[in-house]
Amino acid sequence: MVRIEKGGAAIEVVTGDITRLALDAIVNAANSSLLGGGGVDGAIHRAAGPELLEECRTIGGCPAGEARITFGYGLPAQRVIHTVGPVWHGGERGEDAVLAGAYRACFALALDNGLRTLAFPAISTGVYGFPKARAARIAAREALAAAAGGHFRRIVLCCFSEADAATYGRALEASAA
Ligand code: ADP
Repeated sequence: MVRIEKGGAAIEVVTGDITRLALDAIVNAANSSLLGGGGVDGAIHRAAGPELLEECRTIGGCPAGEARITFGYGLPAQRVIHTVGPVWHGGERGEDAVLAGAYRACFALALDNGLRTLAFPAISTGVYGFPKARAARIAAREALAAAAGGHFRRIVLCCFSEADAATYGRALEASAA
């Protein structure tokens, strides 16, 4: 596990199931309908229960690079911040900026709602096909920038495999150096 201290926050890369984390909020890598899907989105909806989908239906979707907040229902996390990452189209269609925007939108919502501990999955690196090392550099940079603001206590980059955690851990160490 890689752990970096910045701005009073611990930024950590961990391996595991994000639905198990008892933090102020977990981030969902959703699709723009916010009506559920596969991957981490499916896992979050299964663990939260049907009330999460009911609340999501009232939101009316979310464009890529933005975020929306709901309650956590059956999850140990109090809130879910749903964001939509970019679909990878080769890197020339603004994918980096949209992914950075998704992280920033999540941190902004956390700040607005007084949430100090939050976890992110590896947004866009599953079915959306974003190259992992490149996504990891963006996640690390945005986490460090958010931590520098001094509001957060714990920022977890929650990877689903050891291989992904190694990639995100290397990116965090490199960005912090
Ligand atoms: P996207 O559509 O943004 O690519 P995916 O859900 O397909 O989203 O994948 C994003 C990342 O989430 C992938 O690295 C995938 O391995 C990971 N993932 C899937 N399930 C979980 C889970 N329960 N906890 C944490 N990460 C998960």
